[in-house]
Amino acid sequence: MAKTTPNTSTTATGDAARIHELRELLTRANTAYYADAAPFMSDQEFDALLAELASLEDAHPELFDANSPTQRVGGAALEGEFATRRHRVPMLSVDNTYSVEEMRAWYQRCADALGAGAGGGTGGGTGGDLGGLFALPAGPALFADPKVDGLAISLRYEDGALVEAVTRGDGEKGDLVTANVRAIRAIPLALRAPKTAQWGGIPRVLEVRGEIFMPVREFERINAEREKHGEQLFANARNSCVGTLKNKDPKVVASRRLSFVAHGRGEGEGLPALAAHSEFVAYLKELGVPVSAIGGRLASVDEAARTIEDFAGKRESLDFAVDGMVVRIDRFDEQEKLGFTAKSPRWAVAFKYPAEQKETVLEKVEWQVGKGGTITPRATMRPVFVAGSTVKHATLHNIEEIQRRDLRIGDHVIVEKAGEIIPQVVRAVVEKRTGDEKPIEPPTACPVCQGEVEREGPKLFCTNPMCSARFRERLKWFVGRDQMNIDGLGEEIVDALVDAGLVKDFADVFTLDAVAVARALAKGDKALAEIEKKGPGKRATGIVESAADAARHRGLTRVLAGLGIKHVGASAAKTLARRFRSADELLAATEEDLLALNDFGEVTAKSVAAWLRSTDATHVFAALAKAGVDLASHEPKPVEAGANAFAGKTFVVTGTLERFDRGAVTELLERAGAKVAGSVSKKTSAVVAGAEAGSKLAKAQELGVEIWDEARLVEELAKAGLA
Ligand SMILES: [Zn+2]
Repeated sequence: MAKTTPNTSTTATGDAARIHELRELLTRANTAYYADAAPFMSDQEFDALLAELASLEDAHPELFDANSPTQRVGGAALEGEFATRRHRVPMLSVDNTYSVEEMRAWYQRCADALGAGAGGGTGGGTGGDLGGLFALPAGPALFADPKVDGLAISLRYEDGALVEAVTRGDGEKGDLVTANVRAIRAIPLALRAPKTAQWGGIPRVLEVRGEIFMPVREFERINAEREKHGEQLFANARNSCVGTLKNKDPKVVASRRLSFVAHGRGEGEGLPALAAHSEFVAYLKELGVPVSAIGGRLASVDEAARTIEDFAGKRESLDFAVDGMVVRIDRFDEQEKLGFTAKSPRWAVAFKYPAEQKETVLEKVEWQVGKGGTITPRATMRPVFVAGSTVKHATLHNIEEIQRRDLRIGDHVIVEKAGEIIPQVVRAVVEKRTGDEKPIEPPTACPVCQGEVEREGPKLFCTNPMCSARFRERLKWFVGRDQMNIDGLGEEIVDALVDAGLVKDFADVFTLDAVAVARALAKGDKALAEIEKKGPGKRATGIVESAADAARHRGLTRVLAGLGIKHVGASAAKTLARRFRSADELLAATEEDLLALNDFGEVTAKSVAAWLRSTDATHVFAALAKAGVDLASHEPKPVEAGANAFAGKTFVVTGTLERFDRGAVTELLERAGAKVAGSVSKKTSAVVAGAEAGSKLAKAQELGVEIWDEARLVEELAKAGLA
């Protein structure tokens, strides 16, 4: 892909700077995609930059960093109140490829490593007619199925019953979402007994890996409904699916028809002898687990190439988003021989279809003010039809992105849809420049309030806390689902209430008078009249009192998450509310107190401290308290180090315990205040060793780390009031 790479110095210091830059950029892109559901980089560009980083890191082993984006599987675990579970078998991601040639090269490498020819399975050569005597050596057979764009999940069945569902998370551990997953009708709660003897009975243990996804029609239905209720729309089916599964109420999950397709396996016990993935898929079908209707076993790499080409044309007509095809070596013994790299299997590759691209003209750039005062550039383009809809606008993310892509007003630009829905400006068509193009200048004052603009890294902020644009966006965030969750106060209604001057600060939401709202909505300005015509105005009058009443009691964590304090989201809010039990305690906190918190770095601590000292903070809390909003923490109190045998210590669990499975013991230890680590080191406080403990026990003995048996664990848990 043609693009400018401003920093391609070949000197060692140039490489070091580039490595640092790429790690930072990719980490940011990853967070934006996985945690914030606000991608700013196409998958293709991400993978290209990741490949560049990987090759630079290969050349500079001295710059190794375990936190580099090349050193992990996928995104961070979803934030929320779900318990986390460690995967017994890690959920690895599959390497991407964008061309059939690359796919063929991958196949050749596999064939070479297996000592087989790549002649192409059983169908190779006319020699086959002569009883195989002169046949080309057969290459390994393949299996291909669509790469559905959803949420990866591991389903654990014990004696045929669904006992656990865990999201992929970071590949090592994910969120325990069993209750929600049970609400998805596509997922069987119990496995079906195989009909034929060859498959044996119900397996003792089977972990099915697959993808939960939202069918396109369901996505459209939900968005239409959200629009009617004045709620924020989902950007695409994948976000909608993730948002649904993160919902704490399984009833909501059940009301949205999510679907599921299986594509792999984790732990298994008591399975019939299965020689290949194709047999495993047939077995799943027999057990009543949904598998893809498209794809299957392929005898040769030529067949795989044909399947990929055929499928490209069918993608658009499917009722679910597919971004590629996963091609894998079919036989398990061959998979085993090929093995794994640090982050992915060598025996599989994901062929990704390129996003559809179109050329248009960049007409103008406006700067918009968001909830944190962030000022972001939004492009207006000559309308162009891309991948199923007309595109006119796209975010340009920030001034550095604009400079990195060297975009100018009047440029011919290439746009594509990332994740099928969100349009992105990929690059300028430099060859078509006439010299009349104008550079894009960052604003020197806030475009809404004319307030002072501050620059922090690539981002621009309006520093005026009273900026009306800032407040409006902060308010939309504050009343949102994951914050105060004031149902029904959608974007339109918030805009109307702010425009009418009925809401000037957060606390006003709780003291709105339904009659005043009704009057304002009925006779107010044009925007309000419009809303009234559409219906949600009537609804607003009804929801104001009941919804705000409920929201009064959500507690400090939700309030903090909703205030739009820079660097404070749901998890930082939780950390704060665990340590500081009320708004008053928090107001008295010093920067040192904040720095001492788990997961608080210097940047977050400084930002929170500065906000706490601002008049905004004292004013907000006083006004909310006056409106009757509960500003006390509802979080469980942290266990103080030394309070029991676990708090503040690091434990490693190994071997099989009689009374607990691995997930349960991890949860208990964490609740008791311990950290649970995966490997034994000098920092390990104690190792809990069950039956058949192996190398970790040996390592603990070698290092002289304290060793507990299960009886000791039970005894100490009982003392801590946990067993
Ligand atoms: Zn402003």
